Amino acid sequence: MFKQNLHTHSLHCDGNDTVEEMVQEAISKNFDVLGFSGHGYCSIDDYSMPFDEMEKYIQDVRRVKEKYKDQISVYLGIEQDVLGMRFEKNDPFDYIIGSVHFAEVADQFIAVDMDKKTTEKIVELCGDFLTFAKVYYDEVKKIANMDEVDIVGHIDLLTKFNEDESFICFDDPEYLGLAKECIDALIAADKIFEVNTGAIARGYRKTPYPQKLLLEYINQKGGKILLNSDCHNRFKLDCGYKESLDLIKNCGFKSMMEFNGKKFISKDLEEFGC
Ligand SMILES: [Zn+2]
Ligand SMILES: [Zn+2]
Repeated sequence: MFKQNLHTHSLHCDGNDTVEEMVQEAISKNFDVLGFSGHGYCSIDDYSMPFDEMEKYIQDVRRVKEKYKDQISVYLGIEQDVLGMRFEKNDPFDYIIGSVHFAEVADQFIAVDMDKKTTEKIVELCGDFLTFAKVYYDEVKKIANMDEVDIVGHIDLLTKFNEDESFICFDDPEYLGLAKECIDALIAADKIFEVNTGAIARGYRKTPYPQKLLLEYINQKGGKILLNSDCHNRFKLDCGYKESLDLIKNCGFKSMMEFNGKKFISKDLEEFGC
């Protein structure tokens, strides 16, 4: 069974553990591939890596990659915010995750994944949730034009606090229309979508991003996916993996993407233990 996680955070940004502790835990959990994706520098947040920290991060990941090379494939990635510093393809990062963490409303950049109160504030400033969704998905759509980005991070992060559907029904046709338009643009640009279990690890959601109806749509449209846990705590490295693999299979997918150090290749779902 092939096990991979390309979306993880360490003490170099807002994670809890050293890269070495994470590698050791990944080995004990039988991972084949562990990729680090520290938050690339972004001036408007307080958790991304400043320049000097980024250099330490790069050296640290290279060190553990070499040290544990006989036990696990370790890769150096970065999570680039649409509003943050942009990186070059393959220099020095093996892969790049493109994410949106902020919405620009009323001339302010507000985090979309902070807490329920903050999401309520965004909705209030926007007037309604659908207007917020339009602002958010227009921002995510920009990733289609970022050639350096390989993977789209947590595509429907704006629904982090919507488990009870108090902001929007997940099957709202207008909401789905906005999300699907964004997905279409990203598929046309050949981006890979991650199935991200991060909100399950934090107890906010019972299912991963993207929500089932969007995941089914990605499959119908021939989109590519992979499974990540957006891990900030080494004990959550494979949080929600089993349930998510079932969901992925139920949505009709026959394969997921594997990163082999050079490129992303398609692998049969059975090989992931489905
Ligand atoms: Zn993120
Ligand atoms: Zn992340």
